[in-house]
Amino acid sequence: MTIIEFKEFLKDIGIYYERKAPNDGTIEAWFERVKKIPSEPIGWITDKIFEANETYPKNIPNTMWAFYREWVQSNPNKIVHKNYFKCPDCDGEGIINLSKTVNNYPYKYVARCERCKQSDLGGIDYISKIMAERQGYAVMEQPTQGPIPPTPKMKFMPSSIAWHTIQEMRGLNNETCVRRWPHIRQ
Ligand SMILES: [Zn+2]
Repeated sequence: MTIIEFKEFLKDIGIYYERKAPNDGTIEAWFERVKKIPSEPIGWITDKIFEANETYPKNIPNTMWAFYREWVQSNPNKIVHKNYFKCPDCDGEGIINLSKTVNNYPYKYVARCERCKQSDLGGIDYISKIMAERQGYAVMEQPTQGPIPPTPKMKFMPSSIAWHTIQEMRGLNNETCVRRWPHIRQ
């Protein structure tokens, strides 16, 4: 999306929740995190926010990503059909789900599989299973038999569990993470 579209989006939800526009620095910081979300689902994401949130979402970028992933799942026709091939490192669609406990809070992450690189989900970092484990992440195992289920991995509750890409965690110490996302405490 463009910054103009993002500002329009912020204006819409600002009006809906009677919230003043964030300052320019905040808008830029948020935009850096959401710019890889395409323009098409913005309207859909806006509606979902109105439906799911009683108040202005605490973390706009995380909320947008969560709903964008939901949109990707509910609109398989919108993304190029792919024939996935079997990969021992990931869920079969190029996605590795990870978890890590930071200051006793369980965090969940999603990354693209470095080994097969078959996921097209833009804006999500690649990592190999081995590297993830070396960095202290636990790889959440996927079922190995039968057809791949409609990805329960992507079921999320935007208000209680946030999905972060590995990148977001890089360079941040634990305290920063807890400060930035206190609401995902479980
Ligand atoms: Zn893979």
